[in-house]
Parts: sequence; C-alpha cells; structure tokens
Amino acid sequence: MFGQMMQQPLLISSFITHAERHHAEREVVSRRVEGDIHRTTYKQIAQRARQAAQALAALGIQPGDRVATLAWNGYRHMELYFGVSCSGAVLHTLNPRLHPDQVVYIADHAEDQVVFFDLTFLPLVQAVAGRTKTVKHWVAMTDRAHMPADAATTAKLPNLLCYEDLLAAQNGRYDWPVFDENTASSLCYTSGTTGNPKGVLYSHRSTVLHAMAGAMPDCLDCRATDVVLPVVPMFHVNSWGLVYIGPMTGAKLVLPGPGLDGKSLYELFESEGVTISAGVPTVWQGLLGYVDAGGLKFSTMRRSVIGGSACPPAMIKKFRDEYGVHVVHAWGMTEMSPIGTAAAFKAQHVKQSADERLAVMSSQGRAVYGVDMRIVSEDGKELPWDNQATGDVQVRGPWIIERYFKNEGGQPLVLDAQGHGWFPTGDVARFTPEGYMVITDRSKDVIKSGGEWIGSIDLENIAMAHPAVAMAACIAAKHPKWDERPLLVVVKKPGAEVSRDELMAFYDGKIAKWWTPDDVVFVDSIPLGATGKMQKIKLREQFKDHVLPTA
Ligand code: AMP
Repeated sequence: MFGQMMQQPLLISSFITHAERHHAEREVVSRRVEGDIHRTTYKQIAQRARQAAQALAALGIQPGDRVATLAWNGYRHMELYFGVSCSGAVLHTLNPRLHPDQVVYIADHAEDQVVFFDLTFLPLVQAVAGRTKTVKHWVAMTDRAHMPADAATTAKLPNLLCYEDLLAAQNGRYDWPVFDENTASSLCYTSGTTGNPKGVLYSHRSTVLHAMAGAMPDCLDCRATDVVLPVVPMFHVNSWGLVYIGPMTGAKLVLPGPGLDGKSLYELFESEGVTISAGVPTVWQGLLGYVDAGGLKFSTMRRSVIGGSACPPAMIKKFRDEYGVHVVHAWGMTEMSPIGTAAAFKAQHVKQSADERLAVMSSQGRAVYGVDMRIVSEDGKELPWDNQATGDVQVRGPWIIERYFKNEGGQPLVLDAQGHGWFPTGDVARFTPEGYMVITDRSKDVIKSGGEWIGSIDLENIAMAHPAVAMAACIAAKHPKWDERPLLVVVKKPGAEVSRDELMAFYDGKIAKWWTPDDVVFVDSIPLGATGKMQKIKLREQFKDHVLPTA
C-alpha cells in the first residue's frame, strides 16, 4: 500500500521559491571583485535567477547542458547556482586555482557550453579561451562600466558577453520547470584520486537532502536568525551546501568574494554580525593570526565549522577558550556532497570537563543522519569500533556518489555480503565505541595543501622527465600553515647529477606555481610493493619528521 501524500520532487528551485515567499527581504551581502560591498535580498536573487535562466535559454542552453563558472563567492554566482540548476541545466563550478591546461581538460571533459567568470579570472580565461572545444560563450560577471575592452581581451575574446546586459534583456517572468528529482543539477571535479580529475555529478534530490542534513543542529545548526559567511569557496563542493542552506533556512548570507585574508574576513564578520562560518583550517589560521595580532574579539560569531583537512586541536581550543567560538570539526569529500561527519557532542559529554570534551571536538566526528559508515581491513572485513582497529573508511547514503561522470574509472563501489554498495573514501580511520571517527592516515595517494589538491602523479611525471632522474615519488609532508606540502623523493640515474634547486626550477611553467614541491630529497631507492608500485605509505613514514624549508 502506498502512502497518500503529495508527490513533490525534491528540486533546488524549492530553496529559492521558499526564500522568496518566506524570507523575501533577508539580505545577501557580497564583497565584489569591483572592491565595494553589495547588498541584495532573496527576493531580488530569485528574480535575477529567473532572468539568468531566460538568458541561458536565449543563448541556446538546453536541459542537461553544462554551464560553467569561474567565480568567487558572490551574489551573481549565487544567481547562477539557481538560474542554471533550476532551469534544468547543470552548473559546473570550475576551480580557478588550477593550471590553465587542467582547466581546458576539465572544461572539455564536461563539454561546457558557456563559461561565466569573475573579472579576477580574465587572465585565466584569456589563457584557455582559444583552446576549449565546446565553449560557445564567455560571459564576464560584471556590468557594462566594468567590461574589459583592452586589445588583449578583444583579440582573445571577440564575442565576450556582459552578465548584466544579458540579465537586463530579460523580464524574469518565468516559472521554474518541474522535473524528476534525480535530474543532474551540478558538477564538480575532484583531483583527489589518481589519474585525471573526475567529475562528480550531483542531482537535485541529493542536493536537497544534503542541505537539509547539513543545516541540522548537530551539524551547521543554521537558523533564520543566523548570519552565515561561507569562506569555503562556491567552487569547492558547492560551498559545502551553504548557498542552499541560506535560502532554505532564511539565514542572511555574507559572501566574501576575493577577500579571504584575515583582515577582509574579520571586517565582514564584524560589520555584518556573522554568527556561523565554515572553511578549511588554513583560512582560520590567517584569520586568527590577524585577530591575535590586533588584540581583537569576535562580537557575534558563535560557531565555526572547520573541515577539508584535519583541524588542529590547538585551533579548536583557541577559538573556544580565547574567543568563545564553538568549533565543529567536520569531515567529508567531493564524492559525498560533501558532508559525512561532524564532531557534535552526545548527552554523555555535556557534563564532561572542557579538556575531556576536546577529545570529542578534535575527532572528525560522527556520521550525520543519512550517511552510513564502516571501516574495513585490507581484505574487506568489517572492523570493530573499539578505538583500536584502523581500517579503510567506506560510506553509503543518498548524497554519496555511485559512479563518476561518464563512468570514468569504472564502478567505484565495493559490495558487502548483503549486496549493498559502499564508496571507499581512501581515508583510514579508527572509530570510538561511541561512533566518533579519528582519521589516522590515507590509503589514497594525495597531497592536500590549504584545502586544495596537488596531483602527486603530475609532479612525479614531470620529475621523471628530467634526464638525471631514475625514479621520483611525491608525498605529503607536514606544513605548519598549509597542513601539507609536496615533498619530492628522488633516485638519481647512476652517474647523473642534479641539484634540489635545479629540480625545483624544472617545474617552472609546467604546473601552477603553488604546486611546486617545497623540497627535494635524494635517496638510494624507493620501496616498491609486490606489484612494483611505489609504497608511499612507507615513504611518508620515513619522512614524517622532515622539516620543510620555510620561504
Ligand atoms: P575534497 O574532495 O576536496 O573535499 O577532499 C576530501 C578529503 O579531504 C577527504 O577524503 C580527506 O582525505 C580530507 N579531509 C576532509 N575533511 C577532513 C578532516 N576534517 N580531517 C582530515 N581530513 C579531511
């Protein structure tokens, strides 16, 4: 027997229609690329999102087409979040921090039809414009007065379009279409695993369910009275869902644009009365450094969600003891939309001492409703949650990937005895009997610097192209600011000579500058496994105390 309730597909348009009706005048404040502070409301965002949808139709965009952005956190980007996805097209948030070659690869792979970009990224757009295969339109996210008209831009982008002109040509009289909730809504690429970047294609259903779970009290705890500043970029897994959670809850959103330094962020926190923020540890380090140096305080901040990399317990303690801000350490990944766990207390922790509670707060947290988790041994056996056994973390749930875009890399899921598919995260952890996860290592071979991936394979391939290099392995070394930085471990060819500096200079122009290894060490041999694969876990252990030179 079926229930007798309304059939309403879970669509992203429901967020913005809800906000337009129930939180119409709630503000969205943005620091613009142009340098000023811009103020708008959910009502206006909804109207302009419809105009954006009409403009896309006028450009010939069909349902399912990929529409890309290269943009900071700002209201125009938010309008596209809704204008693109809610009209049935797929929003592809390109990561502007990547090397132009990678941007070309990803845009081609996604078959992007249009790219909307903030003016900051004009040089990147100029570098890729003539090289992408499918992009038909480049749109600068600005108004006529700020449109670039210099010779270089005109030569590279003769048909450059202006965002505000596109919107001004439309009246916004448009009804959001209703379609299957499993329709694709947005696309993010992750370079967190080996090989080429892979696309993760979210659906309307997965996005809505994820946002509802993310807003819950033991996760972001977002309410209509809150003022939320997502430091995490909108090009990083949809800013962890915050751009949807804002209109869903009626919270005010404060979008920091390019101003991610401590001073710019602090000023916005204070002037806008921010109560909740979210970002990677590196950003908080910059902010805390600024606040510390000036003897400043947060007057409204109550909660800071930190994830993307392990949050140092000292940071959690400092926020709590010196600034009265509660840190929620969270864990997840692009393939999980991204939220998986959050370090929220259980009833038994309420009476604990502050020190005892720090252990819970420093763990990666416990599964949020909707995500199931387990740890398994190398031979796939499920391991106990006894705070001792460590194993590969596997997850399942309605906002977790089933396969990568275009089936890249084949079927990633592992089946259990009941035939349920589990996604192997590549993280290694133990679980406390209470269900808190403590990440201890990774089985995947990746380097994460300041919340951004660095492709170790690319770095190794470049090093191997040097005539003096016989074998090269690139591993993550601990760094006080960036959490991890690449360390290149090299075996020289017999009789060949090359110095550390020569090898580092060998990367110039071949990769984004910030990907260059921080250091090179020379060894006689690199440990190999039975299949001839380099055993990076052993190398990481060998160099775990390596001190990177500071610039
Ligand atoms: P991404 O796909 O860029 O979101 O990266 C996901 C990966 O970042 C995870 O699989 C972990 O390896 C790492 N990560 C994310 N959050 C945390 C955390 N709180 N502690 C440790 N590692 C984390």
